[in-house]
Amino acid sequence: MIVISEPGNAHDCAAWMGRVIEACRDAIATEENRLCDLDRAIGDGDHGTNMRRGLEALASERQRLSAMPFAEAMIAAGTILVMNIGGAAGPLYGTLLLEIGKGLSIDGLEFPQVFQKAVTAVAQRGRSSPGDKTLLDVLYPLSDELTKHTHPQRLAGKVQGFADMTIEMKALRGRASFLGERSVGHMDPGAASCALLAATVCRELTEAGVA
Ligand SMILES: [Mg+2]
Repeated sequence: MIVISEPGNAHDCAAWMGRVIEACRDAIATEENRLCDLDRAIGDGDHGTNMRRGLEALASERQRLSAMPFAEAMIAAGTILVMNIGGAAGPLYGTLLLEIGKGLSIDGLEFPQVFQKAVTAVAQRGRSSPGDKTLLDVLYPLSDELTKHTHPQRLAGKVQGFADMTIEMKALRGRASFLGERSVGHMDPGAASCALLAATVCRELTEAGVA
């Protein structure tokens, strides 16, 4: 996921893509056990492992991806994630990147609009809404912040709070929904990985001076 406020920055972003992918892979590898623990509490315990696999696959292709125009790279990265993350998260993260890539190819759309459309596509793919205790509970507020042109540095400090909001939610989608009320009191693992990735991308963009 790339967070930019001006479409003109898209090509600059592509130049840093390899570094962003590495940073995301490292962040997920560091947090793999925590993500698995979160998933063990309300699911089947494989989310950290699935995400690590997906980000390692992405990282192994980073040179090829960095050489592509940004929109094409997002589509290719989405395809890699669908094939390698597995579980419920693969198609959702994959859809997000694929739709960002497609949206960037449409003339006249600014990045916040592109992101908003991509988040709507993820919601449709998962047949979920915000409040269902999924990664959408991070993506929707993130999209709102992008629309407000919140600086990535500030956003990096805010996204964990979005994931924290899922602790008090009752799961309405996925395996966790079978637990009903017992899902309350646990952070959604998808929201946790999504916040981690968003914060990582925001920090990399800030450091690179892209945004
Ligand atoms: Mg799982």
